[in-house]
Amino acid sequence: MATAAAAAQPATSRNLCRIRLIVRVLELAAFQEYVKESLRRVRRDRTNAYSFPMASVVIIEDEQRIRELMARVLAAAGHDVASSSTAMEGLQAVVNSAPDLVILDMGLPDLDGAELLKMMRAVSQVPIIVATARSEDRDIIRTLDSGADDYLVKPFSVEQLEARVRAVLRRVASGSRTGPITIGHLTLDAAAREARLDGEQLGLSPKEFDVLYFLAERSGEVVSKRELLAEVWRQPYGGSEKTVDVHISWLRKKLGESAAESRYLQTVFGVGVKLVDPDA
Ligand code: CA
Repeated sequence: MATAAAAAQPATSRNLCRIRLIVRVLELAAFQEYVKESLRRVRRDRTNAYSFPMASVVIIEDEQRIRELMARVLAAAGHDVASSSTAMEGLQAVVNSAPDLVILDMGLPDLDGAELLKMMRAVSQVPIIVATARSEDRDIIRTLDSGADDYLVKPFSVEQLEARVRAVLRRVASGSRTGPITIGHLTLDAAAREARLDGEQLGLSPKEFDVLYFLAERSGEVVSKRELLAEVWRQPYGGSEKTVDVHISWLRKKLGESAAESRYLQTVFGVGVKLVDPDA
């Protein structure tokens, strides 16, 4: 009996090994499937959340590596991209092709970016995003005052570039919108930066207004907290989602509702928040 048990032992352990191997293979296959599905989901989300109109873009940037990276990223997003490495070439491209958007590096070899910005503004109202290494507030304010629509501080990520381009194109598109946005009894006037509920001023802080307006432009659509941080707070990576929660809660108070009894602002658990017409 002892001999038979000893002979059975190696067979059992071989079977165990085989079973373990099969489990490993199955686990690996499941893991691979999980990774594939995650990637599919990310692509799907990106397409849904980040879809924006195609535009013709002129990039004016003397650093070849950055210029080519930006061109590749924007072309991959479906834009029609032309690039120039000098200010003069860039100005010519803007005059000749009348693009929808310009991305302008402030440090160019032949002309200061700020000078070029002024020259461009004299001949065109094209939206301009400046890319600058100067991150100090007063430089940014000066840049915006001299006619830029938005800015990117170097070094910036691909996601930041995409987000800023999206934001500017969206602003241009909504700028052509006539009059304020009305959702139910709520009216938001971007030009006057006024929010009214049943005709009564809501007295929102600038950030509260920005959040509400951002949601109003996409009413009925769930917007993630991360997207709000990226678009309203300009923090695509950093920033705490708690900040968004706090502003949503302040907005709810001003709208006379609460998380438990929400009307206009509805939280979709684990996804984000949406603005809806409660009586629709
Ligand atoms: Ca440069």
